[in-house]
Amino acid sequence: MRTKKNLWKLFIVLVVFPLSTDVFGNRSETSYVAKWKGNAQAAFSITIDDNGNGDSRNVQASILEEYGIQGTFFIITEPLTRYPALRQMFLDIFNRGHELGSHSVTHPRLSGANIDLIWSELTESKLFIEELTGAPCITYAAPYGDLTPNIIEVAQELYISARGINIGINEIAEGNIWNLKTAPRPTPWDAGVTWTNEQYLANLRQYVEDLLTVNGWGIEMWHNLTNDPNEPSSGPAINETVFRTFLAELTSDYGHRLWVAPQGTVARYYLERQDTTIEILALTEDVILLNLLFDGDKAIFDEPLTVVTAVPEHWLSGELTVMQNGKRLDSDYTIDVDGDKPCLLYDAIPDGSTISIVFEPNRGDLDYGVSYLAKWKNKADAALSVSFNGNGIGDNSGLTAAILEEYGIRGTFNPITSYMDEGIFLDIFRRGHELGSHGVSYTRLIGASMETIVNELTESKQAIENLTYSPCVSYTAPYGHTEHDVEVVAREIYLSVVGDREGVNAIADANIFDLQIGPVPPYYDDPETNWSNEKYCAKMSEYLEQVIKAEGWGIQVFNNLTPSGEFNNGLMITETALRTYLSEITNNLSSTVWIAPQGVVARYYLERQETTIEVLTVTGDSILLNLLFDGDKAIFDEPLTVVTVVPEHWLSGDLAVMQQDSLLDYYVEKHETEVRLVYDAMPGGGVVSILFEPTYNQR
Ligand SMILES: [Zn+2]
Repeated sequence: MRTKKNLWKLFIVLVVFPLSTDVFGNRSETSYVAKWKGNAQAAFSITIDDNGNGDSRNVQASILEEYGIQGTFFIITEPLTRYPALRQMFLDIFNRGHELGSHSVTHPRLSGANIDLIWSELTESKLFIEELTGAPCITYAAPYGDLTPNIIEVAQELYISARGINIGINEIAEGNIWNLKTAPRPTPWDAGVTWTNEQYLANLRQYVEDLLTVNGWGIEMWHNLTNDPNEPSSGPAINETVFRTFLAELTSDYGHRLWVAPQGTVARYYLERQDTTIEILALTEDVILLNLLFDGDKAIFDEPLTVVTAVPEHWLSGELTVMQNGKRLDSDYTIDVDGDKPCLLYDAIPDGSTISIVFEPNRGDLDYGVSYLAKWKNKADAALSVSFNGNGIGDNSGLTAAILEEYGIRGTFNPITSYMDEGIFLDIFRRGHELGSHGVSYTRLIGASMETIVNELTESKQAIENLTYSPCVSYTAPYGHTEHDVEVVAREIYLSVVGDREGVNAIADANIFDLQIGPVPPYYDDPETNWSNEKYCAKMSEYLEQVIKAEGWGIQVFNNLTPSGEFNNGLMITETALRTYLSEITNNLSSTVWIAPQGVVARYYLERQETTIEVLTVTGDSILLNLLFDGDKAIFDEPLTVVTVVPEHWLSGDLAVMQQDSLLDYYVEKHETEVRLVYDAMPGGGVVSILFEPTYNQR
């Protein structure tokens, strides 16, 4: 089994550029991110500077919309603070899908300005726009095209691209997005030079042709429309006929060869593409799995990239499904650059979630793929947690933890936080045990004020989290008092609470905010009521049998090791009794019991309740599924044990179970004629793929 799994690792290959290798024989594994969206040859952005007069920008936005174009409006923000109608107009334009970029606060000349002014003009305009729209403002257009090194340095801190006023093509290889060049216009643009409509259009057409040739990015910088449609264009003003004719050509004549999008959208694509690596995870006869790895800030970089993936010739004859993280993506066929391989085009977000391309999915005659979540980890019959309450005397808690470790057990230690020895408990935590809360000051909470209850439960949790830098999710009530108000508060901040009722927690009806516990000797320091080691162990064994019978969750609570080593009562257990018990639960049980800290079992229990298995596709050699779970992933990070039915003949070849890009361990279980794989996967952790490849390594 291990050998086969290691062989699989050979097939996880990093691909940055189109690659062909013999590892896959005749298989096709080429994938790359297209230069521009939709595999277009060039990109084009329409940008409009300044605020215009009256509602002129609204008119221009409406014209763009007639041609299905989203533009970038570079606004000067200071006037918007004084004119609510102007502010509202730009917000409307944004809400209709256009981008709002910054054109500074007051449109000053910034070359030679002091650095404080540069900072305030670039920062405050950005913040104003973000406040207005609730979205990141990521593009800047420099007033007067002032982009000195000083200004660029500031822009780089705040934006992802900056546009100047120089005329030219932005070539993708050259990559200067901090002084983006613009399309030809009458120059000098502010000196009243005019072109005829024909001249203007001819120059723009040539510009687009040049863009297509070099796979570049063109940007039109516009200001106003001339009021009279017959008036010729000058630098600052463009004739409406020219404007409309050009927009019509952009969106129809060039078809898919030209991608028209706002400056910020193209900049996102450009930057994401540069920093994205394609990782081919797996190939089978029917399936290609890959990831787009990208480390940038996902709040800003959320533009889907167009991916080109070569697929085997015979896939052309059947149905294909492309999915990312369980969602279906649109796809189209194209031919690769060499003109001989069929390729798929699809848009995917570079967020590391698995993309699957599946040939002939969901064949109706296949009845496997059925999956369910095991009641307890590793399909154990029952769960058991071992907890120790209180701070102990000296290093008693640390010694107890060391004994648990001898038996391979992780326990839950519940200190009273106001006088715990932080060093001892941090050390226990670092050795893999859980720290739960047992309150701040060992206060009786029956009849206590709500304020006291809130303080006891929240401050103790906080103290432990401050110590461990990880969530404290378990509470054990002092004196076992889990009365109503305690439960109400605990439900807000913990995952589970241990009380003092003796009994088994049956999975179907467990109140995990008043968990029942195993037997505890009476709390009297009276030799008559002490339990002998034999009696204590017998009672604990009996309890464990009940837990297993109910397929439930047992919690055995202790306080400390007795210093004299002689007697067991409510507060103390002898080392002998403890070791006898630990040895029984780890070695001598006829059934399997999952032993884990309270917080780990509670996580499993809650995740399992809230997780739905969605089988995405089943083919002749693959099963893809998702564990849908909406909970907070910072807390709920316990893998669940999944059981999936697979065809028997899969056992004769190589098999891999993966989640995202990680191989998962699995084992095979046969039940009558049914073959099942058992493995642990993270709920909400991305697509799980089970892949069969019978003759892979013999090719
Ligand atoms: Zn301007």
